[in-house]
Amino acid sequence: MKEVKSPKRPLIYYYLIVMVILLLFNMLAVPWITEHQIKEVDYGTFISMTENGEVGKAEIQEQDNRILFTDKDETTIYKTAMVNDPDLTARLYAADVKFYGVEIEQTSLLVQILAWVLPLVIFIGIGQLMSKKLMEKAGGTNSMMFNMGKSNAKVYVKSSDGIKFSDVAGEDEAKENLQEIVDYLHDPSKYREIGASMPKGVLLVGPPGTGKTLLAKAVAGESNVPFFSMSGSEFVEMFVGMGASKVRDLFRQAKEKAPCIVFIDEIDAIGGKRDGRVGGNDEREQTLNQLLTEMDGFEGNTGVIILAATNRPESLDPALTRPGRFDRRVPVELPDLKGREEILKVHARKVKIAEDVDFNKIARMASGASGAELANIVNEAALRAVRQGRRFATQADLEESIEVVIAGYQKKNAIMSDHEKRIVAYHEIGHALVAAKQTNSAPVQKITIVPRTSGALGYTMQVEEGNHYLMNKEELENKIATYTGGRAAEEVVFGSVTTGASNDIEQATKLARAMITRYGMSDAFDMVAMETVTNQYLGGDTSLACSPETQTLIDKKVVELVKQQHDKAVRILTENREKLDELAGFLYEKETITGEEFMAILEG
Ligand code: ADP
Ligand code: MG
Ligand code: ZN
Repeated sequence: MKEVKSPKRPLIYYYLIVMVILLLFNMLAVPWITEHQIKEVDYGTFISMTENGEVGKAEIQEQDNRILFTDKDETTIYKTAMVNDPDLTARLYAADVKFYGVEIEQTSLLVQILAWVLPLVIFIGIGQLMSKKLMEKAGGTNSMMFNMGKSNAKVYVKSSDGIKFSDVAGEDEAKENLQEIVDYLHDPSKYREIGASMPKGVLLVGPPGTGKTLLAKAVAGESNVPFFSMSGSEFVEMFVGMGASKVRDLFRQAKEKAPCIVFIDEIDAIGGKRDGRVGGNDEREQTLNQLLTEMDGFEGNTGVIILAATNRPESLDPALTRPGRFDRRVPVELPDLKGREEILKVHARKVKIAEDVDFNKIARMASGASGAELANIVNEAALRAVRQGRRFATQADLEESIEVVIAGYQKKNAIMSDHEKRIVAYHEIGHALVAAKQTNSAPVQKITIVPRTSGALGYTMQVEEGNHYLMNKEELENKIATYTGGRAAEEVVFGSVTTGASNDIEQATKLARAMITRYGMSDAFDMVAMETVTNQYLGGDTSLACSPETQTLIDKKVVELVKQQHDKAVRILTENREKLDELAGFLYEKETITGEEFMAILEG
């Protein structure tokens, strides 16, 4: 009956089978009853018909307290209620009527059993037949449908086009960490001799698109052992217990094939904290429990290494991350400048690209981009080259595609009124000028006021000079001032404000809040954390951890801080009103201004 329960079989088949059976039953059984209409008569009629010799057959159903009888040629069936009539038998005998009593109970039981069992048998039979048919179609054992509780892990073996560490750019620390595992899998005995045991589990953590999945595949490609790959969500099944049995199956296979690697991608799908909420996900918890048991179930040196990836490490169950399970954590962070340059080069190998492309410049412009975004930038550049009928991508293609990937496609026919365009020009120059005038802020790389599909009307690309690991209070304050610079320019020039600053406001507030609640940069709270980051790799949500009174005070401090910087921005722009007009005029005319043009005007 396993197949009957299979959730992967389209339910429609079962409905069809049931329908067919019902139809058959109706066609066979209903006519038999309806065709032979039974006529009800009184007992007197029965007696007189008997005496007149009009009765052919009679059936005395004592159970139902009735007599069924037919006329002489047995075409019509009559029915009459039974009356206590001791002479009945004698009378029927005299009239030469064939008569018999019926053991109703027995026959009807048989019929009843048959009526129940027969459809079931047919039902199962057809089901079995169809499953066989489908199984043949799906290619025998590979068919997932009928392998309930089997892990369906994809097994990778070494192939010539396998992904290698050289395909993963940057991420040197992560690669170093994983290289040790590759070594171990090549020759476990070397480690066994010394008595060192490899970590059983290695957890790759980092923001989306940084190459976690890619790294895991590279480990498989390098280490030349079977590689079982499964996504956490594949364990989550409709039926309780299925996920757990998949885990069991996966580990059974892995132990048979050791040394090998088991890779569970997006492990947070099953590895989330068991919080014991009412109505929680039983199935997920069982699966997790099974995983924990399996990880304890084999010794450190059997040669099975479990890799897992997640971008929400803080949501994982502590039992999963304790020593002895996933005891090694490999951070896979967003690439730095050098990393970005290398990633661009790795992906540029796959497309035809002009020789004079300055990858360093592209990497500088794409600050904050993840590996996946950089791969996308290279691809967009190639697409743009094709669109414009060139045979290779150029620097301009790459630069344009940064904006495409980061800011959305250039709107071809967006209509912006003249006045709006002027406001946007001033707004963007406002940001840039405030940034440039505060010595510590990064200069702008390029400003454009060509509207993007993402909705942004203007776009300022700031360049980071090298990598920044620490920022001091002044730099952060300057950053806030820069965020407020756009709005400040609108105020200084037009004396009124627009909706265009909503994103700036959000950013400025976030930064000011962080300075006060997390970085200890406010005299009011000293080094006390008022907020904790709960979602480090996905957006960095925070949750407040302080009393309502303190919250009120925090809000006041945030407003104070932003206001202070806003005032500073207004002051800077008022003092440089001439440059502001000149720069905004240039941007308004040309729609684009580069960093060099900007500095030339500013210093000129
Ligand atoms: P995730 O961390 O979300 O699992 P992936 O490994 O799926 O990210 O990365 C998505 C794609 O981004 C990869 O297929 C690859 O093309 C590109 N990529 C990401 N990081 C790198 C990197 N360090 N080097 C080269 N390509 C990368
Ligand atoms: Mg991934
Ligand atoms: Zn702005």
